[in-house]
Amino acid sequence: MLEYANHIIRTIEQSGGEAYIVGGAVRDMLLNRSPGDYDLATSLLPQDVMKLFPVVIPTGLDHGTVTVVIDHLPFEVTTFRSESTYSDRRRPDEVTLGVSLEEDLTRRDFTINAMALKPTGLVDLFGGQHDLAAKIVRTVGRAEERFDEDALRMIRAFRFMSQLEFSLDRQTEQAILVKKQHLSSVAMERIAVEFEKILLGPGRTTALQAMIRTGIPEYLPHLDPSILERLIEMPLNGVSTDDVWTLVVVAGMRPEALRAWKRSKKQQTRAKTLAPLVKEETLSDWQRYCLSDEELLRLNEMTGRHHQDRSTLPIRQLKDLTVNGRDMMTLGLQKQAIKEALAHLEQQVVVHRLANQRETLLREVMMWKKQHGTGS
Ligand code: ATP
Ligand code: MG
Repeated sequence: MLEYANHIIRTIEQSGGEAYIVGGAVRDMLLNRSPGDYDLATSLLPQDVMKLFPVVIPTGLDHGTVTVVIDHLPFEVTTFRSESTYSDRRRPDEVTLGVSLEEDLTRRDFTINAMALKPTGLVDLFGGQHDLAAKIVRTVGRAEERFDEDALRMIRAFRFMSQLEFSLDRQTEQAILVKKQHLSSVAMERIAVEFEKILLGPGRTTALQAMIRTGIPEYLPHLDPSILERLIEMPLNGVSTDDVWTLVVVAGMRPEALRAWKRSKKQQTRAKTLAPLVKEETLSDWQRYCLSDEELLRLNEMTGRHHQDRSTLPIRQLKDLTVNGRDMMTLGLQKQAIKEALAHLEQQVVVHRLANQRETLLREVMMWKKQHGTGS
């Protein structure tokens, strides 16, 4: 991949432009980690980048971004840009293309994310290498101003602490104390994505402690400091981004709060269903029956337990009963009574009180009908 990124840089240079690998990829390479992707910054305008490579997708022309595809691998190439006046603390009001590399690096959030690399050298204007060596997350420029521009950066600071096992620069932390109330103006989706990364990073203990220390929970919906304290105690290694929200609920967040955190319907139901079961050492047959195969799998993964899979249950769904609604109708039951009778049989069969045999079940329905009526 690095070869391809360098090829893009050389191609742009041959056409008279400048180009660099920027952002997370530079940071990761200097840390001897392999970057997930390589982002590039260039002096050329998007339309000129498009002319230089056979496969280029205009993925974000408004922001000056095109994606160069080489050997099926995507490389985002973005024109040097600056961002002016963040009146709402969410998004820049205006993106200016065609500025210098220096300006492009100046708009970036942290010194460790604000370096640029090309085959002939590294550009490090803000002491990024120093902070990498010292393992410090520090804003580029005055922290208070940078958090005024975009309050999400405060949460990103904790994210990088967690992912990289870094500590927080003192002045950056001071600025968070002053600016944290601006978090309310940031879209919750963006915060949630960073929060997931905080929870799943190897340095989450330090990061979560810093969040508690700076009083962040008060400014995030339904997040009590005690929830973060419990999350610190929980083993979250290897947990997926879906399941991590189940564990946030286990740690004490109300499942309904996941709506405010803009989590998907699926995540919300999963958390609500699975959270109460996480602490159970054994599950009853009925509890297993009420889960889907996937939910049971996830529960096992999350807890390291080995609840038997659902194939050992007498039935796995209502349809597996040897009687159905039509049989109930034949026996003279109506709508509501049919539903209730079937639910009764389902429950009895799952807990092994009745065998899933047609005769047994029909006999049970007759008795049930005597007690409950026909529903008419
Ligand atoms: P990852 O490896 O997790 O993707 P990353 O450093 O690439 O980490 P991204 O969120 O992909 O993080 O952002 C890419 C780069 O864009 C960052 O390294 C940083 O230079 C810049 N950046 C991203 N978000 C912001 C922001 N809110 N404010 C300023 N600069 C930002
Ligand atoms: Mg990235």
